Amino acid sequence: MTASREEALRLRGFPQQLELPDLVVAARNLHSYLQPGLPVIKSKRVLFARSEQERFGANRLNFGWYHESAHSSLNQGWVRAYLSGGGDPYPMRQKQAFIPTMREIPADAEAISHQLLVKGGYIRQLSAGVYSFLPLGRRVLRKIEAIVREEIDRTGAQEVLLPALQPAELWQQSGRYEVYGPELVRLQDRGGREFALGPTHEEVITQLVAQEISTYRKLPVTLYQVQTKFRDERRPRFGLLRCKEFVMKDAYSFDTDREGLDKTYRSMYDAYHRIFERCGLQFRAVEADAGSIGGEGGTHEFMAIAESGEDDVVTCSCCNYAANMEKAVSRESMELASDERRISAVTRETAAPQQFHTPGMRSIEELIEGLGVSGAELIKTLIYVADGKPVAVLVRGDHSINETKVKNALDAITLELADSETVKRVTGAGTGFAGPVGLTVPILVDYAVSILPSAISGANVTDYHSRNVVPGRDFALTQVGDFRNVQEGDSCPNCADGKLAIIRGIEIGHVFKLGTKYSEKLGAQFVNAAGETHPIIMGCYGIGVSRLLSAIIEQNNDDSGMMWPATVAPYAVHLIPVAHQDAAQMEAAERLYAELTGAGIEVLLDDREERLGVKLKDSDLIGIPLRVVIGKGIAEGKVEWKERSSNSPAVQIAIDEVLASVQTHIVQSS
Ligand SMILES: [Zn+2]
Repeated sequence: MTASREEALRLRGFPQQLELPDLVVAARNLHSYLQPGLPVIKSKRVLFARSEQERFGANRLNFGWYHESAHSSLNQGWVRAYLSGGGDPYPMRQKQAFIPTMREIPADAEAISHQLLVKGGYIRQLSAGVYSFLPLGRRVLRKIEAIVREEIDRTGAQEVLLPALQPAELWQQSGRYEVYGPELVRLQDRGGREFALGPTHEEVITQLVAQEISTYRKLPVTLYQVQTKFRDERRPRFGLLRCKEFVMKDAYSFDTDREGLDKTYRSMYDAYHRIFERCGLQFRAVEADAGSIGGEGGTHEFMAIAESGEDDVVTCSCCNYAANMEKAVSRESMELASDERRISAVTRETAAPQQFHTPGMRSIEELIEGLGVSGAELIKTLIYVADGKPVAVLVRGDHSINETKVKNALDAITLELADSETVKRVTGAGTGFAGPVGLTVPILVDYAVSILPSAISGANVTDYHSRNVVPGRDFALTQVGDFRNVQEGDSCPNCADGKLAIIRGIEIGHVFKLGTKYSEKLGAQFVNAAGETHPIIMGCYGIGVSRLLSAIIEQNNDDSGMMWPATVAPYAVHLIPVAHQDAAQMEAAERLYAELTGAGIEVLLDDREERLGVKLKDSDLIGIPLRVVIGKGIAEGKVEWKERSSNSPAVQIAIDEVLASVQTHIVQSS
């Protein structure tokens, strides 16, 4: 730093220079106050602080800061923040804290994160899929939100707050009022006007931009929101993982051309990596299907890897291929797309189809067992109703149908399995005996079925199947395509040697190139430099903020409770005196408490009149990253130090080393 800059800062009111690392931890805890775009304050910075104790009491400081990097446009600035200069910056004494821990596992809690968040006093259920966030839960939520805001701000996006209450007309205009189905919460106001509670905000934001922006000069722009959204889940479960009411971050980008959208998409994709890394998550970005949101071009889901996840993630053992089950394809299917055998099958000389008695054999498993054949010799025929019209879908007996691929191939809005009445009407037989021969509805045939030389299928007569069924000879292939789910061990579509594996994941984010679907319907247009009018090109980018709490806990827990990563933990340190009636221990605990909070570290002090066993059990359960137990060792100036997520046993350290150890730990884990 040059003398003149130092002098300039001094004149601006930052007279007191403090060298790192004294303030590094304090500054780190001030993230949310810092100017947008400022990364974590680490090394190579000098901080200036001026206490304003005279005017504002104990806790207010001004920080000036600069960065030595000449490339950064964010290399100086200042921020005012409240810091502990004496009293507690926040209520952190457990005697007063509202942390209602429980010993029993809630009866309806299936997911481990649901169990622990309720037991640890982080959340409480109000009604199915609707939760209150108690102080610990709220603190974690705020930390996650702060990370999300910092990284999204860094991309240049600007935050807005949008209405949850949205007029039905807007949803009718986009065509989604019906399509969204029963998951859209619908209600009426006193005048009988229809509204929806927003599950997402494409309509609202597109209309807003349509009204305010009409020229390329005001583009590109990206707006985002962090707020409560609603979805009428049929079966809410797994705590915060599948809720009726949840906190989302949604960003919407508006560009003039595809290149602009690609750039915005990439910057969001990168921001998502930083966000999930900072939250301490193990995750994969996977290729995804566009789904009901519509749109075109690229879309990726971000999946937190977890045994308990509801989604299947397909990954390659050799390359970086990753896709969700809806989207994943196997090399086998790709190669069959150009296979010639299909054509030769038509001329194959095989005996004509022959019906045989298969009483009660409705399922593939029953056929395999009853006939002693393999699944690969069977054709599985399922009758679906696509946009009100019945279709038949054929996959091999050892494969499963991928409804998303079927839906996309038909370009259908709705696709559901036919009820038994429809099956009877279409096939003439009871459920379980459908086959392709003689059907008059369109027949969608998976590649693997299309090349079968001869197979067994249902005979469209109850209790009968047919053998010697030859695709192309005995029934018409209305449409041939990839209609099946990939299986463990299928070949990778992206590299020569890789085999596909299927792991479980929790969807935590989604980036999406919308294109002009919404801008066309809602009239969001711009005039370009040549005076021509075009629809604005959009992208949307969501993160399930409240479900991140659950995803983090699914990945960070043991038999005793939660293990929060330092970056999102409700407190950094849990201070636990062994005996509340021991004056020396309590005095040492208070001294550490003052010292740590004085350095801006968030500390929870367990000053309750409880047995040590109870305190330690609660401490393990709520999962604060660092624990300092003050016991008899205090006579020699020693306390017990334990990292929650480490398997190493507790160690004795000098009480004078606690602050430095905590600071080192925080800096290392950020
Ligand atoms: Zn591969």
